[in-house]
Amino acid sequence: MILTVTMNPSIDTRYTLDHLVVDDVNRVVPAKTAGGKGLNVSRVLVQLGDDVVATGLLGGHSGAYLGDLMDADGITHRFTPIAGESRTCIALLHDGNQTELLESGPVVSAEELEAFVANFSDLVSGASCVTLSGSLPKGVPADTYARLVAIAAGAGVPVLLDTSGAALDAALEAEVKPTLVKPNLTEINDLLGTSFGPDDLLDLQATLAGDARFAGIPWVVVSMGAAGSVAFHAGRVLRAKAPRIECVNATGSGDSTIAGFAHAIAAGADDEEVLRCGNTCGTLNAMDPQTGHLVLEKWDEIHGGVEISEL
Ligand code: ADP
Repeated sequence: MILTVTMNPSIDTRYTLDHLVVDDVNRVVPAKTAGGKGLNVSRVLVQLGDDVVATGLLGGHSGAYLGDLMDADGITHRFTPIAGESRTCIALLHDGNQTELLESGPVVSAEELEAFVANFSDLVSGASCVTLSGSLPKGVPADTYARLVAIAAGAGVPVLLDTSGAALDAALEAEVKPTLVKPNLTEINDLLGTSFGPDDLLDLQATLAGDARFAGIPWVVVSMGAAGSVAFHAGRVLRAKAPRIECVNATGSGDSTIAGFAHAIAAGADDEEVLRCGNTCGTLNAMDPQTGHLVLEKWDEIHGGVEISEL
């Protein structure tokens, strides 16, 4: 079983309009999905045929509705209930633009967090891989992912971390490291104070090698959108290039990449296949209009078309 963690899930609501009229009425039809990066990961894993359990924090009527949305997607869920109301995030697709309204979400109490950590510890014992994705809600300390990483590592379960800012900093500073981190190019440059591009990967390698925070992380994968990704693993620099595709909607490609890594790592795949599988999922998501959904019928074409080379 692959365990996915979504600490601040949301009812993702998409409205599509030809043109947004400001300061007047716009009539819309909503499309609602169980959102939050970890739930995107879960949906892709369901598509890949994995046995998935989604966990995190869920509250109020919105939380109950999110449970219904997960049921509809075939996602088994074991969330910890909280008193606050889970959030709604709105994306307006209009005039060729995407305008987003993102609620910050509920405030979580210390008792609720401890109940979640106990729930997580129970679930981890039955997992072959854990993914931790997204931001932490208010009230949850920045070192919480570092805590969850240590629990998973203590249970001998590989743990994949996809977050940014203070939560990523805290996990990188911690003694017990995650198995894999997947910043995108912007996130890694922000973290390092650099401005590397896809042609500067050996410089990026040198900078990472000199930064103690990355020592002991088996997989540091930097994703680069249409340019593919680069993995720093076991002293090697593995460059993955995705085949050229028509990008329909790349939102959730990073989450899909994490799902691909989890799928391959849980299956005991070799290093090249881990990287190939992650890139295949990211690319197949970019070809699909839905977030966290793969054009599965193109699997063989894209999987076979990912080029992996050693720098
Ligand atoms: P994030 O969503 O975390 O910012 P990226 O945008 O870097 O992540 O995308 C993750 C992966 O998805 C990339 O490494 C690549 O494999 C794939 N991908 C994303 N956008 C495209 C695209 N336009 N064409 C092909 N592959 C893409």
